[in-house]
Amino acid sequence: MGIVFGPVPSRRYGLSLGLDIIPKKTCSFNCIYCEVGLTDNLTIERKPFLKLEDLKGEIDESLKNISHLDVITFSGSGEPTLNSEIGRMIRYLKKNYNFPVVVITNGSLLWMKEVREELSFADIVEPTLNAGKEETFMKISRHDKDIILPLHIEGLIKFREEFKGKYFLELFFVKGVNDDEEDVKKMIEITRKINPDKIHLNTIDRPPSTDCLPVDEEFLLKIKNLLPDKTEILSRFKGLKTYIEIEDFILKTVKVRALKIDDIFSMLKNERKKIEDVICDLIDKGKIKEVIFNGEKYIQGV
Ligand code: SF4
Repeated sequence: MGIVFGPVPSRRYGLSLGLDIIPKKTCSFNCIYCEVGLTDNLTIERKPFLKLEDLKGEIDESLKNISHLDVITFSGSGEPTLNSEIGRMIRYLKKNYNFPVVVITNGSLLWMKEVREELSFADIVEPTLNAGKEETFMKISRHDKDIILPLHIEGLIKFREEFKGKYFLELFFVKGVNDDEEDVKKMIEITRKINPDKIHLNTIDRPPSTDCLPVDEEFLLKIKNLLPDKTEILSRFKGLKTYIEIEDFILKTVKVRALKIDDIFSMLKNERKKIEDVICDLIDKGKIKEVIFNGEKYIQGV
């Protein structure tokens, strides 16, 4: 298991050294939009999947060669708070290094006192809220059966009351799944109750694990206007810039599953003409092909 990755530039936190402390793909959720893939091990059972002793050598070695870094971030192949060693790891980093420690979490275990205590040593914690209704919560997170939305919300609120560091909240939206009036209204109510230090609005940017689509920029702007000034839109609506980036994205995406051309336009958020040129070129090179299914045109990997 790769423990340390990067440093990578992150839109939220600048130059970040990532720590992946969970085996792929172990999570308490199996989100329809997950970019890591489908969850094989759906669980809320916390374990020392990786011990602090396994991390020390690699982190010390990585940090020895890094001249500039903004943060060290726990994220990666699953839910980091499932690792029962996370508290010891955060304390080790805080004791031995001067970099802010960030934990990106789905927030589903924050109702557990020990999880809140372990995360209390971090500088920034960013949990996610992706539903306002129980039915939507199940549809989008396909979570472990022991997690219900009121418990999830209770954990998010309790952690806000206790945590002394910065609390950022991510609101994640998927087109046609949690963007209806009722879900949005409830998510805004919960967000106001939590009153985080910062709110990040996000949607799908990379190939998701199932057939689902991002909301558009207009929708997120509308939500931003309903929330306090500390709200930022994270998604990259300007799109991928270069031909190579677009080509790489299409090849990786259609290798996993066939996509309608309109879905590719919607995911890439770039000039239609540019994307069409890349698709034609890839078809000519025999790297992708067009297939007709149910009267609709799809692009598929070869
Ligand atoms: S919580 Fe994160 S890692 Fe887990 S399934 Fe959802 S998006 Fe993927």
